[in-house]
Amino acid sequence: MSRFAHPAGDRHAEMLPHERPPLPPADLNRINPAIWPRTSGRTDGTLTIGHVDVRDLAREHGTPLFVLDEHDVRSRMRDYVTAFAGSDVHYAGKAFLCKEIVRWLHDEGLGLDVASGGELAVALSVGFPPERITMHGNNKSVAELTRALEVGVGRIVVDSFEEIARLGYLAERHGKRPKVMIRVTTGVEAHTHEFIATAHDDQKFGLSLSAGAAAEAVRRILALPSLELVGLHSHIGSQIVDTAGFEVAARRLAGLLVQIKDEHDVVLPELDLGGGYGIAYVEDDEAPDVKEIADGLREIVAKVCEDAGLPVPRLTVEPGRAIVGPGGVTLYEVGTVKDVEGLRTYVSVDGGMSDNVRTALYGADYTVTLASRASTAEPMLSRVVGKHCESGDIIVRDCFLPSDLAPGDLLAVAATGAYCRSLASNYNYLPKPAVVAVADGAARVIMRGETEDDLLRGQL
Ligand SMILES: *Cc1c(COP(=O)(O)O)cnc(C)c1O
Repeated sequence: MSRFAHPAGDRHAEMLPHERPPLPPADLNRINPAIWPRTSGRTDGTLTIGHVDVRDLAREHGTPLFVLDEHDVRSRMRDYVTAFAGSDVHYAGKAFLCKEIVRWLHDEGLGLDVASGGELAVALSVGFPPERITMHGNNKSVAELTRALEVGVGRIVVDSFEEIARLGYLAERHGKRPKVMIRVTTGVEAHTHEFIATAHDDQKFGLSLSAGAAAEAVRRILALPSLELVGLHSHIGSQIVDTAGFEVAARRLAGLLVQIKDEHDVVLPELDLGGGYGIAYVEDDEAPDVKEIADGLREIVAKVCEDAGLPVPRLTVEPGRAIVGPGGVTLYEVGTVKDVEGLRTYVSVDGGMSDNVRTALYGADYTVTLASRASTAEPMLSRVVGKHCESGDIIVRDCFLPSDLAPGDLLAVAATGAYCRSLASNYNYLPKPAVVAVADGAARVIMRGETEDDLLRGQL
């Protein structure tokens, strides 16, 4: 029986439009340059990244395997630094951080945002300059704040009244005077094409602008001689494709800057507008152009400050996903191919929600392709699933794979560089996969894959 499954008779006709599976793409073998890493393509049918054959990668390093296109990631770092010349670009380390990424950031002239003592330790372990690090987090521990003070991180973004008091005390005790910013909740929440601008801010991050908490934070910090208030910070969301939400946020922040000037006769010199720039995961996604974002944001900041009668502050941006997302690919080996009620085919691979939780966590979409060979077989509607004990263990919800797919084939999932390895778990005691960087026909391990010994280490 053919496993071509679209449209599969009446079942799909009964579905609501948004539930109907997508149409098969014209060419199952296509490696769309808008989605896949900059140096990827097919050579004699096989996917290559950084001019390395994925079959060689799988043979040498096993699967699942994270493959990072070094040229792609570094060139995106450079693109941001170039487009935002005159501003500061801080990579948001939570997207994916390891020693080698920190070295690349250093080489390419970016700063780094960390959100925990562990992320800070990674950066310091390879000598990243602490003054180019910003410390984030809504509940930094005393130990984390103390370490940040001791090593002299460039900025600490405070997120609560308790933290202001805690940091003020610790700074005084250690004889330091850290530069701090206030994380302001502007009521703007952006996601892809839409943003909502509300007056109330029902979330754990930041100090509310509308409720006056941000203004009160300013008062408390200015009253503490051990803290130096340098600016305001706002991060409005993720997968954002245009600058409209940033404009509303920047206008509201400018309003607070004016209030600070009027009340305290203080002009804050810095403004951090966060990150959140979108990337293309699937065919229809549009990724904003970095130059357009940079020009747009600078124009917005200049305009709102001019309107408010303020000098233009130094701008910082914090891209994470847009730097490291598109250059990453996950390789899996197919283990089983199961036709379910003629409705769709479940393709099980050797990883799952432990190496990519984004689909289970927020219904993320991904592009997947048969990587170890090209195929001219007809498309079959498929779902790529992992090997975990959860029916929600899905990597790609709806996709088309060639109907001659068989155990032993390699699948590649695109745009997994951000928020996959960094969110990886050991669920079901699966070891976390290795990360290899590929460039100019060579691969090198930048994070060793975990072994059974690693899984048992620390157990008594
Ligand atoms: C997560 C985060 C970012 C980066 O977001 P991306 O969507 O990866 O660009 C930047 N700033 C802050 C404060 C964040 O929490």
